[in-house]
Amino acid sequence: MYTKNKIGRVIEKHYNNYKVQVDSIVKNAKLKGKLFKEANNIFPCVGDWVEVSEHDEILVIENVLKRKTQISRKLPGNATKEQVIASNVDYVVVVLGLDGGRNYSDRLLERLMTVAWNSGATPLVVLNKADLNNQAEFVKLQAETIAPGVDIIISSIKDNIGIDTILEYLTKEKVGVFIGPSGVGKSTLTNILLKKEVQRTRATKLKDKRGRHTTSASYMFELESGGFIIDSPGIREVQAWAEKENLDDVFSEISSIANNCRYRDCKHEGEPGCAVQMELERGYITPQRYDSFLHLRKELAYLERRKSEKNGFTEKQHGKKFSKMVKQEMNKKKTYHNYINN
Ligand code: GDP
Ligand code: ZN
Repeated sequence: MYTKNKIGRVIEKHYNNYKVQVDSIVKNAKLKGKLFKEANNIFPCVGDWVEVSEHDEILVIENVLKRKTQISRKLPGNATKEQVIASNVDYVVVVLGLDGGRNYSDRLLERLMTVAWNSGATPLVVLNKADLNNQAEFVKLQAETIAPGVDIIISSIKDNIGIDTILEYLTKEKVGVFIGPSGVGKSTLTNILLKKEVQRTRATKLKDKRGRHTTSASYMFELESGGFIIDSPGIREVQAWAEKENLDDVFSEISSIANNCRYRDCKHEGEPGCAVQMELERGYITPQRYDSFLHLRKELAYLERRKSEKNGFTEKQHGKKFSKMVKQEMNKKKTYHNYINN
């Protein structure tokens, strides 16, 4: 039997098998093959609102509605293809661990903040395992300099600190996703936030006895508070798939100082009249922060290059790009030359 198309949300994805919730009913769904072969890469992901038709209890996904936000990652291996792993997320919660070792570092926070900003969602930072660190407030201050203006929550699952604060964000249909290195407590946190029995068992199945993830499926869980959490293997391995603009968000103090550099295209690497260099010397920008900035910029430029190589530019586009690059180089020379002669 065929019925009129409806709008639903993808709440589970396992390879090409989907579960879509329409109103409050969840049904298996398949892709409409032709559509997705044509539309490059627009595979639905968890969180997507989709248009579905119903054919004998199976839903067919006809169309993916425009995404409000999306979390992407670089595909593993050397492909420079972007893969969208979750969409329509309101909060990207960057979770780090205060238990020492590799679970917190400024560099790590910067990278994850780039992913968060790049998604279009609001970032939140959770510094978990506060019970293992008596300097938690100090680390928080440090984190504030890296994520200025972002809410930072200190939490401990062991001592039940901060959990309620995290929950306050995840109410009224708000969708959250936890990103961060493994071992910081994302699964434990997810399990605690999920109070409904059926979902709890589903969530615990995500890890086996040794704490390894056992499923390649992505899920969207509903919380008692009315919010949602998305859990996906892709998110667990999320890599910086970031655009340059996001560098400015993460290093907002450096980019606002850079407005005062003499040259608009200043790279802050020794050019005359560089405001960034000046503030670096005065100690307003720390050397670590400056190094991180340069490092991340290099990394992003590399990603960009690989992306455009993979995108298979036509000869003509290549030509255009090349002449633009030459023009830029010449302008640089000109401005620098003018300076020398003045
Ligand atoms: P994930 O890889 O980020 O999902 O991390 P898990 O949720 O698997 O947590 C890794 C380990 O850290 C588990 O043994 C948890 O019990 C433990 N853990 C999680 N949160 C806390 C916390 O706040 N304090 C302490 N002491 N241990 C925690
Ligand atoms: Zn400069």
